[in-house]
Amino acid sequence: MLRDAVRSLAEAKIAPYAAAVDEEARFPQEALDALTANDLHAVHVPEEYGGAGADALATVIVIEEVARVCASSSLIPAVNKLGSLPVILSGSEELKKKYMTPLAKGDGMFSYCLSEPDAGSDAAGMKTRAVRDGDHWILNGVKRWITNAGVSEYYTVMAVTDPSKRSRGISAFVVEKSDEGVSFGAPEKKLGIKGSPTREVYLDNVRIPADRMIGEEGTGFATAMKTLDHTRITIAAQALGIAQGALDYAKGYVKERKQFGKPIADFQGIQFMLADMAMKIEAARQLTYAAAAKSERGDGDLTFQGAAAKCFASDVAMEVTTDAVQLLGGYGYTRDYPVERMMRDAKITQIYEGTNQVQRIVMARNLP
Ligand SMILES: Cc1cc2nc3c(=O)[nH]c(=O)nc-3n(C[C@H](O)[C@H](O)[C@H](O)COP(=O)(O)OP(=O)(O)OC[C@H]3O[C@@H](n4cnc5c(N)ncnc54)[C@H](O)[C@@H]3O)c2cc1C
Repeated sequence: MLRDAVRSLAEAKIAPYAAAVDEEARFPQEALDALTANDLHAVHVPEEYGGAGADALATVIVIEEVARVCASSSLIPAVNKLGSLPVILSGSEELKKKYMTPLAKGDGMFSYCLSEPDAGSDAAGMKTRAVRDGDHWILNGVKRWITNAGVSEYYTVMAVTDPSKRSRGISAFVVEKSDEGVSFGAPEKKLGIKGSPTREVYLDNVRIPADRMIGEEGTGFATAMKTLDHTRITIAAQALGIAQGALDYAKGYVKERKQFGKPIADFQGIQFMLADMAMKIEAARQLTYAAAAKSERGDGDLTFQGAAAKCFASDVAMEVTTDAVQLLGGYGYTRDYPVERMMRDAKITQIYEGTNQVQRIVMARNLP
């Protein structure tokens, strides 16, 4: 029922704008409005804070169905979870009430600020500093590649509180867009997910109350990594949705397109490609849903499974969207058809929330 409801909504209210959002590289406001009106913008927020209380699998299905028509728009529910999960996992009750309530209501989105210009895969090498000043902390630094920066009201920021301790000297904070000293860089000009703003976040002597720290001092990096264990599954879902969208489009096209006097769907070479695409998508779906169930239960092997789902599903998305372009021939290579956008959008799923090389490092360290 959830899938049917999200699919209808996505096809009616999000899909019609997907090409324009990509072409104009603009934020998908129509998608945000439609998702918020239907309580789908941050489905993971627990009911006690006014949220929909969706479990990890339901959240994955929402993201998958939105990504099937517009990958940029699927980053609304996905990054709202990424940005706010550190608070849900490690924050005080006061912090949860203060920030999950407006998030659930649709009054403010959440972003996640881990990466920096010189600290990507090696996130623990970050330079952003937080220094204690009485009952406040003062933050200085630059966060890079921040999804929905400028649009979000709230930012989970990881910063060094004790440089002598490397990852154990990193703490997490909630920073608000309206805090003095917060500003944003120009939007990045990207290959895909052009509707999702990616900007730098500048922290210039940002003074915030001490109770905005998420969890204990020095636990920020652990919280950031624990968050990714759960949210990599949402990127797997995004990849899955993009791949399914490409397969669905190609499936229809090959029945219409005629060469050699018959629909190209009649050629076995085409049928085998479609069969392989569907097979890979189904394998990615099973892995992703199983990982979502593990996320919900908090199983011990979640770290491996989350990394495996993200890595596998994103590789599948890249293969399937490339094949979809192939199935449309020259037409697939143009912006008159959606599969070239899907192919460009798919690429990011192999890069963010840890590149697929990093996922393999994570898996190798946590072999079942
Ligand atoms: C569109 C977009 C949105 C993003 N959104 C966010 C966000 O909201 N919040 C956030 O914090 N970050 C975000 N990121 C950052 C993203 O997570 C990083 O780009 C990613 O982790 C890689 O870091 P890097 O770009 O610095 O690449 P690098 O770490 O410099 O990696 C370069 C290459 O080296 C490889 N590599 C690095 N180390 C190893 C190793 N040990 N073994 C093998 N290979 C290695 C990588 O896999 C990659 O192929 C976003 C990025 C993009 C592009």
